[in-house]
Amino acid sequence: MTTSTLRPARTILVSSILIALVLPAMAKTPVATGTGGAVATISEPASQAAIAILNKGGNAVDAAVAAAATLGVTDPFSCGIGGGGFMVIYLAKEKRVITIDHRETAPASFTPTVFLKDGKELDFEQVVASGRSVGVPGTVRGWHEALDRYGSMSFKQVLAPAISVATQGFKVNENFARLVQGNEAKFAKFPATAALYLRNGKAIPAGVTLRNQDLAKAYRELAAGGVKVFYTGKMARAVADAVNANGGNMSLADLSNYEARLRQPVHSTYRGYDLYGMPLPSSGGVAVAEALNILEGYDLKSLPRAKAEHLYLEASRLAFADRNAYLADPEYVDAPVAGLLSKDYAARRRELINPEQASVQAPAGDPYPFQNDVSVPLRPNANKLLAEGAHTTHLTVSDKDGNIVSYTYTIESWGGSGIVVPGYGFLLNNEMTDFDFSGPAPNVPEAGKRPRSSMSPTIAFKDGKPAFSIGSPGGATIITTVLQTIFNYVDLGMSMPDAVNAPRLSERNGMATDVEPGFAGSAQAQALEKTGQHWSNTPEEIGAANALVFNPDGTVTAVSEGRRHGVGSALVRKSAH
Ligand code: GLU
Repeated sequence: MTTSTLRPARTILVSSILIALVLPAMAKTPVATGTGGAVATISEPASQAAIAILNKGGNAVDAAVAAAATLGVTDPFSCGIGGGGFMVIYLAKEKRVITIDHRETAPASFTPTVFLKDGKELDFEQVVASGRSVGVPGTVRGWHEALDRYGSMSFKQVLAPAISVATQGFKVNENFARLVQGNEAKFAKFPATAALYLRNGKAIPAGVTLRNQDLAKAYRELAAGGVKVFYTGKMARAVADAVNANGGNMSLADLSNYEARLRQPVHSTYRGYDLYGMPLPSSGGVAVAEALNILEGYDLKSLPRAKAEHLYLEASRLAFADRNAYLADPEYVDAPVAGLLSKDYAARRRELINPEQASVQAPAGDPYPFQNDVSVPLRPNANKLLAEGAHTTHLTVSDKDGNIVSYTYTIESWGGSGIVVPGYGFLLNNEMTDFDFSGPAPNVPEAGKRPRSSMSPTIAFKDGKPAFSIGSPGGATIITTVLQTIFNYVDLGMSMPDAVNAPRLSERNGMATDVEPGFAGSAQAQALEKTGQHWSNTPEEIGAANALVFNPDGTVTAVSEGRRHGVGSALVRKSAH
């Protein structure tokens, strides 16, 4: 596997006829095995869009963008063109992994005190529901780079399924209605948002068919004019106006200057697997790798489940202490990534774990002696835990040629800032609240900076061949969901569907481990409590993972959630059963 330079853009001419969403009726199922291409998303129309594009001869990148655009219609509170994301791509022919960082950036007006007043932090929720939380959206630029460099289709082709869903409408499900209900007050503040998602001030109910003609129009304009339509001209002006009318300060230059970044993935190894994850400004790849490096020193398979899970929680705690202290946008902060990824450093961290007793909050370690370059002077103070959201979406696609996309994208909180861009039907992100509101910390706001993320799209290989992909939404719990699913699959020997469906435990170096409803009181919980592990009092569903498993017989198993988030949708082109 290499991660070398990029090859030039390639264009394969395929039918330019708009792809109609005329698909055979398929039952919504969270697990599917087959050949010719596979997809797992949280939305059935999105998975169908990916299969439609694969059937038209598109590759995994084309299909991933088609699914993402459709998720922007059916799951608009998690993701969309008003946000940003991180895409990990495996190019089978060239045997290499690349990543596209299209994280939102802070407008040029930002300073380290932008979220302070008289030296005090502004109220978090008030900042969220305002133009101040909105970063320059990266999604469209990211899709453009993905399609132009690694895809085979145009915007026009891959947006067709999403345009069809937005125009014809889709049925609002319980999950969608619940999310609107939870955001009634935020949405009511913004007339374009209220017009789309509220009826007389109340959430649109489950069961109705929702059309989003404005979003269809926005997608049509992108289909016709390409990436520049979003970053210059009328749509860009509408974005800036919506931000600035609500207390933000974003210029047209902020939009026209936006760039996605092609970054080398974080590479780590774990028990014979090669893992490729997202580098900074996402902390996901580094934190997952550090925790796995700590766990690798134990013979987990020989331990009772509770003992192994205790070690998983402790390793996660230590990795989070470091993540919170050191990681931020690499263009602004000289983060000690090599030290944090070093197996020797992990061994030092492992010494802090008592296999019989849970620890309390852990301080950050000192990775600097494990850096190749020990001259790096920056030793930031550990900072407190951020109030982070738990939203976003993750999707994964493979194609008949073995290309793979693992893609997490977001508008941050449920419903982002709550601001729908008038006339264009999409919500603007609140990604700037992923910065620490006050310093000293590496992740303070600065002009042009990208806030630290937790998104962890991951692709794993064994003996040079794809083994599995995994990713999830969920704010900082993304890291623990990806980590725990790998641990469940590799160490506890669960099948991938079982690994995904198992109760999630999220230890992020807080006062207590976050768990899901029904976990406390279970036999699994009681076994862990013997080592002093304890749980937060506010159980909530954690994450919504999607995975692919590349089976030895050449089939691929797509795996989505069997229970969470209204059940996910896994589809394959040719079913093996
Ligand atoms: N903003 C979060 C991040 O970048 C993701 C949002 C979420 O999943 O809640 O890590």
